[in-house]
Amino acid sequence: MGRIHAPINPCDESAIINHHSAKPANPQLLLILGSTLTVVAILAIVTYLLVRERGSAAQAAARAASNIVQLIDADVLRNVELYDQAVKGLIEASQRPDLASVPPQVRHLALFDRSSTTSHRGDVLLLDRQGDVIADSLSIKPRMDNFSDREYFQAHLHDPSPRLMISRPFKARRAPHPWLIGFSRRVSSADGEFLGVAAAAMRLSYFDALFKTLNVGKGSSVNLISTAGILLAQQPPLAEELVGKNFGNRPNFIRILHEGEGSFTSVSSVDGAERLYTFSQVGELPLIVVVALSTDDVYRAWRHTASLVGLATGVLCLIVLWLTWLLSRELRLRLRAEEELAELAATDSLTGVANRRALDEALQREWARAQRSGKPLSLLMIDADHFKAFNDRHGHPVGDQALRQLAQVIGDSIRRPGDMAARYGGEEFAVVLPETDEHGALNLAQKIRAAMAAQAPFKGDAQAITVSIGASTTSPPSEGTVEQLLRKADQALYQAKHEGRDRAVHASLAPTRTRA
Ligand code: GH3
Ligand code: MG
Ligand code: MG
Repeated sequence: MGRIHAPINPCDESAIINHHSAKPANPQLLLILGSTLTVVAILAIVTYLLVRERGSAAQAAARAASNIVQLIDADVLRNVELYDQAVKGLIEASQRPDLASVPPQVRHLALFDRSSTTSHRGDVLLLDRQGDVIADSLSIKPRMDNFSDREYFQAHLHDPSPRLMISRPFKARRAPHPWLIGFSRRVSSADGEFLGVAAAAMRLSYFDALFKTLNVGKGSSVNLISTAGILLAQQPPLAEELVGKNFGNRPNFIRILHEGEGSFTSVSSVDGAERLYTFSQVGELPLIVVVALSTDDVYRAWRHTASLVGLATGVLCLIVLWLTWLLSRELRLRLRAEEELAELAATDSLTGVANRRALDEALQREWARAQRSGKPLSLLMIDADHFKAFNDRHGHPVGDQALRQLAQVIGDSIRRPGDMAARYGGEEFAVVLPETDEHGALNLAQKIRAAMAAQAPFKGDAQAITVSIGASTTSPPSEGTVEQLLRKADQALYQAKHEGRDRAVHASLAPTRTRA
């Protein structure tokens, strides 16, 4: 059996469904939105936590590196104190008037009494006002040498201040030319006249020994660099022959020199690896200790955690999305089934047009709408003529066929989207015509009547089945009711039957008298 096309227009259909099931606007959309938000929230929280965790790892590493820097600082300052003691002792002893009268061995002992004996100590020298060596910690007979060209000698010569001066790192004259740093004080007479310089030198290999005791991990190193940019010590060595090289123009060094103390992450200009640099100047010395930790090392534990958490989160999100997809598919199927059910519940099974229940709802709705909009509403009641006799002649199955034909003709005749055809009961049909006045309703009624009369007669009949049509119209504002509209149409139908059938009659509801 072919369904009659467009007997119920789409807006009527949705209206019926909405009336029967009051559910959220679009549960499927809500579900997808909800789970998308959930996934986004999970990702945001996990990302936030991982980023924070990474920051903590960097902080912990920087703190550890800073401790190393402090340790080195303290050790160096203690050593500087020792060197200063040696220099001061040398000056004091050299100014004793009784020193000239003692044997050279005793004099040597007295002069270098306070010189420390660490393995990294360089020589301690007393220079006269010309820069010539007059006492040498390494030998009783002082070496034949002149240091008047040294920067520290020139500085003391021109600066009367008795304070300790720390030189820039320099290479020793004697092989194997180790890197040294000098500590010196001016020797002055009682009236401030320049008498010479007392100087001690510290071998920078001292730092190598100190750094070796610190375990900083693979790819990381502890560095000593002069403020001029010369790398003086590095443990463990990152590459060969780096010590002694000038890093003065490398961006990382420029930044370290500029910031003085602190830490930052940057790429090494030596091997391109990323490192966390923590640095500080050593006391007042022109030296900077830089602990360079490989970020690979710093973030190893974090990376492990991050990959595990990331994987778990990814799986979780995928599960959520998968469940959402399953649920949304179920929902879609259920929704479609419900729609089909609702459509079936509103459809007449024999003819496929709307049934009586759908008609009642449509009438109520259109009545209310007409009252609001002030536009007329018409109703047609269509009844097949002498149908009992037709049934008797052809039998019920052919009668059913004739009813379907009638429904088809009615459906084909209505064209406006708001119009609605329904089976009222038995061989009676109704058509709701919103925004249609008496004239329009009668026109359509005549069209249906004529279309039925023009159908081919059923087998053995002289003519086609005819219909009688009663039409009624309400033109708001009206005090009437839907029931009155129905009754009026029914009365008009009765009149049409009475007047001989195969015709259309109109009866309108009396318009409300406007009250003064
Ligand atoms: P009138 O011109 O006055 O309307 O005469 P009528 O015979 O059409 O009116 P009446 O109300 O006496 O008879 C209606 C008939 O319609 C009775 C019944 O057999 C028939 N009918 C009602 N529903 C169906 C149906 O679903 N299928 C069939 N085949 N016939 C139906
Ligand atoms: Mg009837
Ligand atoms: Mg009839």
